[in-house]
Amino acid sequence: MLHMPPAEIRIPGDTYRHQGQRKKLVAVLKQKGIGDPRVLEAIGAVPRHLFLDPAFDGHAYEDKAFQIGSGQTISQPYTVAYQSAILKLEPGMKVLEIGTGSGYQASVLAQMGAKVYSIERQKALHAEVRVRLRRLGYRRIQCFFGDGFQGVPSFAPYQRILITAAAPELPGALLDQLEVGGYLVVPYGEGEDQLMMRIRKEAGGQLVREDFDRFRFVPMLKGTENRT
Ligand code: SAH
Repeated sequence: MLHMPPAEIRIPGDTYRHQGQRKKLVAVLKQKGIGDPRVLEAIGAVPRHLFLDPAFDGHAYEDKAFQIGSGQTISQPYTVAYQSAILKLEPGMKVLEIGTGSGYQASVLAQMGAKVYSIERQKALHAEVRVRLRRLGYRRIQCFFGDGFQGVPSFAPYQRILITAAAPELPGALLDQLEVGGYLVVPYGEGEDQLMMRIRKEAGGQLVREDFDRFRFVPMLKGTENRT
């Protein structure tokens, strides 16, 4: 059973034009190799233009990353779809996301039926995203302000953890907060681009790693940034 809002619920600011553009984006992602129907359905449902500055309205459904303020970016839809697909998500699962950013990725996961916990280290982005998600009605997402290297221990364990910034190391706290049998997906490395990895935590704490493609993410940084 998917926990999705009924299709007839209209979001203010979402028009038939935007819906049409989303359909085209879904077709582009399919062409680029995204096959998971639940991921495609979620991308087709989440109004990405409402996660961007209105100045980008005409470009929101291009398969591109954009600036979202505080020197950060909303990931390219292909990257969001790719990470969502390799996460092996099932409806109802608890997911911890590191790097809330615009809240778009969190909303895609929520649209796929996940219960999402998301943490952001930039106070200004965190404040903005809370307002946005409340307005859009995504009540299955809880946002936290803090350092993702520490995770969100109060709601652990998580069945899935998704890191959406380039991690220079595998944060031990996150591996501790991952349920046995769970997966952590992370763009790993410090160079210009990073290797997407999926880590499975086995009974006894043993980690099994699978490698995917290379991507470009902004760095995962330690500590918090309090400017609003
Ligand atoms: N998932 C976002 C895009 C991520 S961009 C979206 O859908 O829009 C990466 C985000 O990770 C940035 O907002 C950055 O501030 C945040 N970030 C970087 N290091 C972090 C850390 N240690 N803890 C939490 N967030 C972090």
